[in-house]
Amino acid sequence: MSPPSTESARLMVSESAKKLVQSLASNAEEGLSSEDAAQRLARDGKNVLQMAPPIPWWVRFVAQFESLMVGLLIAAAILSGFLGDWIDTVAILAIVILNAALGFLQEERAYQAIRALRDLSAPHAKVVRDDKLQVVAASDIVVGDLFQLEAGDRVPADARLIEAFNLQAQEASLTGESIPIAKDAAADLADDTPVSDRVNSVFLGTSVVAGKALGVVTAIGMKTEIGHIARLLDETRQEQTPLQKRLTQLGQILVAACLIIVAIIFVIQWLRGGKITEVFLTSVSLAVAAIPEGLPAVVTVTLAIGLQRMAKRNALIRKLPSVETLGCVTVICSDKTGTLTRNEMTVRRLWVFDAAWRVEGEGYAPDGGIFPIQTEDLDSDAPDSDAPDIDEPARSLPSAAPTSPPALERMLSCADQCNEATWNYDHESHKLEMIGDPTEIALKVVVAKAKGTHIQPYDSVLHENPFDSERKRMSRVVRYCNDELQMLVKGAPESVLAAATQIFIDGEVVPLTDAHRQCISARNAWMASQALRVLGFAFRRVDHSPEQWHREEELVFLGLIGMIDPPRRSVTDAVASCRRAGIRPVMITGDHPQTALAIARAVGIAGDQEKVLLGTAIVQMSDDELTQHVTQSSVIARVSPLDKLRIVQAWKRNDHVVAMTGDGVNDAPAVKTADIGIVMGITGTDVAKEAADMILTDDNFVSIVNAIEEGRGIYDNIQKSLHYLLACNSSEVLFMFVASLIGWPSPLLAIQILWINLVTDGFPALALASEPLGENLMNRPPRPMKEPVLTFERGRSILLHGLLMASVCLIGFGWVYMSDPERLAESRAIAFSILVFSQIFYAMGCRDSERNAFSIGIFKNHLLIAAALGSILLHFIVMSIPWTAEILGLAAMPWRDLPWVIALSLIPVSFVELRKYFFARQTVTADQATDVPSNAA
Ligand code: ATP
Repeated sequence: MSPPSTESARLMVSESAKKLVQSLASNAEEGLSSEDAAQRLARDGKNVLQMAPPIPWWVRFVAQFESLMVGLLIAAAILSGFLGDWIDTVAILAIVILNAALGFLQEERAYQAIRALRDLSAPHAKVVRDDKLQVVAASDIVVGDLFQLEAGDRVPADARLIEAFNLQAQEASLTGESIPIAKDAAADLADDTPVSDRVNSVFLGTSVVAGKALGVVTAIGMKTEIGHIARLLDETRQEQTPLQKRLTQLGQILVAACLIIVAIIFVIQWLRGGKITEVFLTSVSLAVAAIPEGLPAVVTVTLAIGLQRMAKRNALIRKLPSVETLGCVTVICSDKTGTLTRNEMTVRRLWVFDAAWRVEGEGYAPDGGIFPIQTEDLDSDAPDSDAPDIDEPARSLPSAAPTSPPALERMLSCADQCNEATWNYDHESHKLEMIGDPTEIALKVVVAKAKGTHIQPYDSVLHENPFDSERKRMSRVVRYCNDELQMLVKGAPESVLAAATQIFIDGEVVPLTDAHRQCISARNAWMASQALRVLGFAFRRVDHSPEQWHREEELVFLGLIGMIDPPRRSVTDAVASCRRAGIRPVMITGDHPQTALAIARAVGIAGDQEKVLLGTAIVQMSDDELTQHVTQSSVIARVSPLDKLRIVQAWKRNDHVVAMTGDGVNDAPAVKTADIGIVMGITGTDVAKEAADMILTDDNFVSIVNAIEEGRGIYDNIQKSLHYLLACNSSEVLFMFVASLIGWPSPLLAIQILWINLVTDGFPALALASEPLGENLMNRPPRPMKEPVLTFERGRSILLHGLLMASVCLIGFGWVYMSDPERLAESRAIAFSILVFSQIFYAMGCRDSERNAFSIGIFKNHLLIAAALGSILLHFIVMSIPWTAEILGLAAMPWRDLPWVIALSLIPVSFVELRKYFFARQTVTADQATDVPSNAA
């Protein structure tokens, strides 16, 4: 099988560009060979701008010590040393270093993971090598490579333009000029022309705003213009997310509150005649106990784990704060083509005035064929078994005339030649690879299927007015072999029809009457209502004056082609899941309203009574009117990218948290304005990707919904860890506080508090952060954006749980101490063990706020089980080794008391779990009584 394309276009290259290509030992048609490119890469190195050297690991390690808590501890260690208590000094310093090492390792792992994810979204470029268009990493581009550019691309290296159509580049990053610069490949410029005036070249780091071009690389990496002026790029670390900032603030409030309590305890203990050093050390330890110092590490690790999980589910997060915002999303404004649909276009219908054809055959293979449809079949015939089932009222269509092959041939020529898709035929593997927009590939395929149809061969493309979503059409001026010049146009039928004044019928050009227009519109609407994406085709003769080549007017209308693009699998389920989660899915598309509605109904976005809001109506509306209307439709059609920005703003004015998808360069403002800007990884342009918060590697709507679920899960997990750490900390403070109120001596030693806080409860807190996603995440409404990290409810339950753990410690301590005040060391060892065990067991109760550990599966969080066992083991080890037991003050542990120590430690978690059990039962009973579905969206 050979590529069924017609003769390929020849390039019109200026003399100076030709010379340059020669001097670079390249070829303006075929590009470099792969071997040559590999040799040049080995010789010149990668096309990258040098980064500032990374911060050495030891500087990052030392940074771990920059906190109030560590300062307090080091002061305490020094003081102990002065007072001759060397064991405490060494022990405190050892714990501080251990804690810093753990924090350092966790943060490093998290940042490595985040950096690896960033590399996944590294830029690519379209180069011509071995006479084939290929996509390569931008860093692999070499001098002499030919690359293609189109609207939305980042320029991957400095290059001289060989060919450019309407190319405009945004060069502000290089020259400071904020207005896009029009480029001209034919301009002959002196060598010393300043960069800002070099209209025949493009430069690394700038971007293409409009048009398309082919360029030959003249410089890469640090040898480019931007490389000359760029200071070393600093790979700055991610800034804190809002949650991290709020947690820091919360930490500060907690510190202030606890310092007051600590001061009170200090005074009480001191007045009671405690040894000043011991009282001081205990107070410092208590202050350390109160500060949730494990939290920053937990948040970083949770975010990193979450980002990795999201990447596995095809969503790459570019801006860390978006992870939190994802959980608050209330509306998803999604493109149709490629996001909700598969973007696998297959032409199903051809129509010229007034005859129609059915197209058969699947995929890209030119098998199948085109078959005329009888007039009587037109109304009844459904175009495709893939088409969604739509109950459209039967339309009365104008009667069909006999088939008119001349118009069909011209329309297919136009579909083939006003088309940027290309074939790569691999002679070795006999495989045909298609490169380009699926809409255009589908057109190439149908031309190949229409065997026997004569396609007039052409000589060269003289000019192109590229497709853009504003005009909704594109055109090319081609020179045929007989030297005739024609402008070929294709686009949305309304757009093409608006520029047409004549129509091609039975081989003749006749004036386009209102009756013709009505007929064309009716055919267009009919195909669209069958979920077909419809394109209109037209042409006109032009002369050799290039001014004419921009004017898409006085066209001769040829006909319509309708193609099917079936909905993606699982989109219907994802839409249903959105509804359960209180999120409104909205389709925003450049396509025809009927096509949009048909697909929206098929996937469940639109109901039977849905009204489509049109882009043309939006243009007429004031901002206030749009704010009112925007929430009334779930399908918005024939939208231009600029309308998208107003749509996002209108939703936001309705107090919604908006996720919006985009891909083109003109989508960037809307993507940036949305709370979560989502850009397609496959079809998205570089410029749009730079504006994005999130990139979908599979362009799939389902991945958005998955990412929202992950976002909710991550926030939940951070809250679980926060809850756990604060409850543990408050148990220690309350235990010490009540004990000193009762008049007991300090029930825990400073070193014991440090040990628990910095070692044993850190592992379960981290493990809670990796809790698998809960089943109910998508069965509840979005979290309000302004909800505080610590709600009143949560604060109350933290205190209650802290009090429970403190109570069992008080019972354990009091039981032994009251029986014999001489057994103080023993009482401390018992209280210490109860505190360690109760905190470890309590972690099980923090896994879900509504469901108990049995119903979620006790062993489901392997890491938590490992952390709990690890912490328990560590506790037994330090208790069993005489010198560690000595340092921690555990030498007097009465082992025979272990069973009741464990029994007491189980009380807090049992209380928490039983409460959930009864609470859940009450909720179910209440739901049954009122007959309200608990998960109503
Ligand atoms: P969505 O906005 O959901 O991605 P879309 O792809 O239909 O949908 P646009 O890309 O803005 O949106 O296209 C708008 C219209 O322009 C299409 O309905 C089609 O009629 C026409 N069109 C699309 N691609 C091309 C193309 N390559 N050449 C000419 N016309 C096109």
